[in-house]
Amino acid sequence: MTYEYTPGRQAARQRAAAANAAASEQRLRDRVEDVEFLLEAGESPDHIARRLGLTLESLERSMHRAGRRDLAHAVHVQTDVRRAYEEAKRRPCPTGCGNYLGRKNTSGLCTSCFNKSRAYKASDAQRAWAS
Ligand SMILES: [Zn+2]
Repeated sequence: MTYEYTPGRQAARQRAAAANAAASEQRLRDRVEDVEFLLEAGESPDHIARRLGLTLESLERSMHRAGRRDLAHAVHVQTDVRRAYEEAKRRPCPTGCGNYLGRKNTSGLCTSCFNKSRAYKASDAQRAWAS
């Protein structure tokens, strides 16, 4: 199919793009209102982000985009708190390779050490035997 230039079509496209931009601006305004309301109601930024289906980081960014540095800052404080908490909880790999174990790790080794380990080779052999 060849594309024909039609002023009407282009105008429609521009209108659609403008409508899209307006809609996303409206969404951002609504989000700012939600966040402001929930923060005032004493909700934690962590909870607000989860409720909006966002990460704390993206919530913070969207508040910046909306020009609300006060709200972005309120979220940021929480981000720092959580990061510190998660860092304190991290478990280094016992082999001293410098990696950390994942949250649900049960093997006691980081992924790369586990892949090199006897346990992995054994389970590999079992898989080969089973198939
Ligand atoms: Zn390791």
